[in-house]
Amino acid sequence: MSHTPELPERFVCDGCHVVYAGTVEHRDGTYHYSAPDECAACGSTEFVSFEQYVRHKTA
Ligand SMILES: [Zn+2]
Repeated sequence: MSHTPELPERFVCDGCHVVYAGTVEHRDGTYHYSAPDECAACGSTEFVSFEQYVRHKTA
């Protein structure tokens, strides 16, 4: 391991608020994170980033 990737981005299900780690993809020398396609708990396909979620909840 020559370098450490950034912390994985996290995504929160808009339906039941379960937190998922983003799916990591290493492409063009950088790491990309994407939300899961579907929530395993409630089947929702709506996700917000964890930062966005926290900001929304604490604003
Ligand atoms: Zn859910």
